[in-house]
Amino acid sequence: MEDLTMSGGLDLERELEELRETYRSGKTKEASWRRSQLRALLNLLQEREDDIFQALKQDIGKHPVESYRDEIGTLIKSVNYALGCLKQWMSSKRAKLPVVAFPSTAELVPEPLGLVLVMSSWNFPFGLSLEPLIGAIAAGNVVVLKPSELAPACSSILAKTIHSYLDNKAVKVIQGSPSVGDQLLQQKWDKIFFTGSTRVGRIVMSAAAKHLTPVTMELGGKCPAVVDSLSGCWDKEVVIKRVLVGKFGTCAGQVCIGIDYILTEKTFTSTLVEQMKALIKKMFGDNPKESNSIARIINKHHFLRLKTLLDDPRVKASVVHGGSLDEDNLFIEPTILVDPPLETAIMGEEIFGPLLPIITLQKIEDSIEFIKSRPKPLTIYAFTKNEALGRRLVFETSSGSVTFNDAIIQYAADTLPFGGVGESGFGRYHGKFSFDAFTHEKAVFRRSLLTEFWFRFPPWNDYKMQL
Ligand code: NAD
Repeated sequence: MEDLTMSGGLDLERELEELRETYRSGKTKEASWRRSQLRALLNLLQEREDDIFQALKQDIGKHPVESYRDEIGTLIKSVNYALGCLKQWMSSKRAKLPVVAFPSTAELVPEPLGLVLVMSSWNFPFGLSLEPLIGAIAAGNVVVLKPSELAPACSSILAKTIHSYLDNKAVKVIQGSPSVGDQLLQQKWDKIFFTGSTRVGRIVMSAAAKHLTPVTMELGGKCPAVVDSLSGCWDKEVVIKRVLVGKFGTCAGQVCIGIDYILTEKTFTSTLVEQMKALIKKMFGDNPKESNSIARIINKHHFLRLKTLLDDPRVKASVVHGGSLDEDNLFIEPTILVDPPLETAIMGEEIFGPLLPIITLQKIEDSIEFIKSRPKPLTIYAFTKNEALGRRLVFETSSGSVTFNDAIIQYAADTLPFGGVGESGFGRYHGKFSFDAFTHEKAVFRRSLLTEFWFRFPPWNDYKMQL
């Protein structure tokens, strides 16, 4: 579908009316339609793999292996999971009733919401667009997908392939800038599913309030990783590799659930830094700028944003590894910083790039107060064998999720809800949670006409009062 900015608002009306008409026809409610669309999505991912690899390389410099691991492979898994569970998800569930309702039966009947808008971000342009789409289709909705304009090659592939593989009267991709996003937000939707920044999330919520549209907000996260002294860990190298992949090895740190900063004990810091340096070299070579295993920064604006974080002299003084930047190639070297002052911007905002501050603590248990004193993160990571510390992290802090001894992997678990809490967002998806995000569970109560209790009805009197 063409860019709305070129076609004007009238086209939008027509496109949306076509979607509403499709929804009213009832075809998207059929299990066969939902199944056919999920299969079409599977074909798209399998047959257009090369185009997807190329677009991700072009927009963000992702290596095909990383693209397969984080986008295509994960999506294929999710579609297959939805196909396997669809019948069960779509089935009505019997509900128990209190004795006073006897004789009656009741059930929960899942119904689609209708016309839904999915707005997505650029860092996983396929994953963050298609993962919600899987849920929206499985639940029987008609959908407008608005990908991010910051990954234009990916946005264009999404538009072309979805148009040709899926039912284009039921699923449409509308590309464009924030002004297109704004035009879309003026419309009345039955649900808005938004992935992006907290700033734009607020704009989306204000627009949704006008029509009382329900929203899911998948927002930013400044995710800490508590790294306990590795002496008690099974395999130090594995732990450090997982930490590094949770930062530098996934979209160069441009990840909402990426490790934003590390919390560790002061006495352990130099060991940790030395081990990290050695493994960075192993992963990205002597000259990481030459490496094709680290993605590039999405654009000049974000490159300069990261450069500004680093240019603060107080921050610069804390760099213990890396720190080189190449504006022409939008490259930033994997960079480690120890104890940048907490009042600097790098510790105040989501970093979203390959800069990794390590904040040192007297005792690892101090990490709990540190996390609690800040906005609720999307995820908390903890690399530890200390079960007491693990329990305290789970029960004393609040975050969208907690993952022990690895990073980012929880995104691929269909049985776990993915979503934030507090400023990291609300609502959840993945697997059945995606189906639920686009479903209204309708309460259906069936009363039998076999018996009746006469005292339920007026006129009221003293005798009835005594019963
Ligand atoms: P963004 O908020 O700038 O953009 C998200 C979407 O909103 C895009 O499609 C964009 O075109 C649209 N948009 C931007 N400005 C708009 C406006 N004024 N009116 C209407 N629409 C507008 O976010 P981004 O830069 O694409 O993504 C980065 C942010 O997203 C980070 O904070 C990151 O943590 C977060 N994120 C969260 C998740 C998650 O699952 N929780 C995943 C990825 C990214």
